[in-house]
Amino acid sequence: MTTNKSSNFIQNIINEDLRTNKNDGRVHTRFPPEPNGYLHIGHAKSICLNFGIAAEYNGLCNLRFDDTNPSKEEVEYVDSIKSDVKWLGFDWGDRLYYASNYFDKIYEYAVQLIKSGKAYVCDLSAEEIREYRGTLTKPGKDSPFRNRSVEENLDLFERMKAGEFEDGSRVLRAKIDMASPNLNLRDPVLYRIQHTDHHRTGDKWCIYPMYDFAHPISDSIEGITHSICTCEFEDHRPLYDWVIENLQVESRPRQIEFARLNLSYTVMSKRKLRELVEKGYVNGWDDPRMPTISGLRRRGYTPESIRDFCDRIGVAKANSVVDIAMLEHCIREELNLKAPRVMAVLRPLRVVIDNYPEDRVEMLDADNNPESPDMGSRKIPFSRVLYIEQEDFREDPPKKFFRLAPGREVRLKHAYIIKCERVVKDEKTGEIIELHCTYDPQTRSGMSSEVRKVKGTLHWVSAAHAVKAEIRLYDHLFTKENPEDDTENADFTANLNPNSLERLTDCWIEPGLAGAVPGSRYQFLRQGYFCVDPDSSGDALVFNRIVSLKDSWAKIQKALGNK
Ligand code: ATP
Ligand code: MG
Repeated sequence: MTTNKSSNFIQNIINEDLRTNKNDGRVHTRFPPEPNGYLHIGHAKSICLNFGIAAEYNGLCNLRFDDTNPSKEEVEYVDSIKSDVKWLGFDWGDRLYYASNYFDKIYEYAVQLIKSGKAYVCDLSAEEIREYRGTLTKPGKDSPFRNRSVEENLDLFERMKAGEFEDGSRVLRAKIDMASPNLNLRDPVLYRIQHTDHHRTGDKWCIYPMYDFAHPISDSIEGITHSICTCEFEDHRPLYDWVIENLQVESRPRQIEFARLNLSYTVMSKRKLRELVEKGYVNGWDDPRMPTISGLRRRGYTPESIRDFCDRIGVAKANSVVDIAMLEHCIREELNLKAPRVMAVLRPLRVVIDNYPEDRVEMLDADNNPESPDMGSRKIPFSRVLYIEQEDFREDPPKKFFRLAPGREVRLKHAYIIKCERVVKDEKTGEIIELHCTYDPQTRSGMSSEVRKVKGTLHWVSAAHAVKAEIRLYDHLFTKENPEDDTENADFTANLNPNSLERLTDCWIEPGLAGAVPGSRYQFLRQGYFCVDPDSSGDALVFNRIVSLKDSWAKIQKALGNK
């Protein structure tokens, strides 16, 4: 199997395995989320990698819920994970599995280990186990229960399963080597007692297998050939291999580690994301500021842009932090060609065109996207009273301010050149409430007599025709590039950005967008890319800004001489 891109190290491993006909030429991967939270963009990297590898090699990829810890797992998470993987564009076919499906088998394997003298029931407390384990520089000590007979172990393990013992009173441990330089091999715990109902197996079990035991067994049951996981499991690989080697398993998967994705200005651990949700720092898992798949979806990201991003970051062994600007670049690049370009005024300033007849409405031609001429054009109404953006007018314009000011001219996009004649202020506050302008009928856009050029072009809407909307602007969720950096000894929530959400409730959008459905995306000229939020209902539109138009990533790349 060859690709025209240079292969990453995982593809190199697979190519070599195929060359030597390991696994009879099969490639079978899995994506194994623990259902203890919603998926985030880091998981997207793993999903794209596992499903992508399977597709590339004509193989298969399973979706497997790693549901071995009943106290933290919920059905809500299972459902959200399934819908997120589908939304990203991947299909597990009929291969949706749960580690909990294998509890009987995993138990039998544990019995197998006990019978071959490779596992024992240990009565040390969790704290004692930690003490006995030793450290990186100090070897561990054998547990006083290490040499129990096979019969006694079988009896105790059976009774652990039967519910005779309290949580934490006993565990099943692998008998490997208390002096191993790898701490994971110092008689790791395989099973713990936990009298907690499981969302799938109910009260059938009160002992649950540990990840390090359940995972290689699940992989082998499913015939996984390449078990791809993140680098924190590198030190666990000898244990993974030990489990596979010491059991009569059906197939022999191989664990391969790659670097986690970290993204600037956000956190990526489910535990921390859950804290943000539970303590109300954000409005749920799908808050558009969250790095979750559901948050990115609600914000307006497309599956294509996320897959493109995962493609660009590549796979490597070394941990790094990816600039969030790169993710934003991916959606901009897509929407630049795809999103219709329309006009919306976020902070309105009323403009009256004094020389425009009061009852007149002209329907002007506006192209939908000059980058994609196939997208055609539409008609927009022009009339005597308009809204422009407050920031597009300055009474005392600084140098290089080419927008509207007293006595100055600007072009209104797709319309006419107007001149500001007079400013109306609130008598009490001095606030500017209205501009009076004149228009030059000879300057309509597209007219052959469009001869005069002015420096500034502004977006606008016709006040009588525009539809009202709420617009939500977002900034980074955290003020620090690495919010987990606790050099100041503060909790990561201390780095939350208090200004990450700004709600503008008096916005006006051109009338063609009335009734726009949630999920539809637009470019608002000069303001960025926006997506209709599910909070919209009927004519009460709510838009999320996906990204502004300023592409800091493209700028950095240009400065670096990259494409
Ligand atoms: P978290 O620390 O966020 O809870 P996790 O690793 O515990 O993440 P799992 O549900 O166990 O989450 O992860 C499922 C799969 O996704 C695993 O194979 C894991 O290695 C991978 N994964 C999780 N986070 C990332 C990340 N940031 N980058 C790449 N892959 C990830
Ligand atoms: Mg985990």
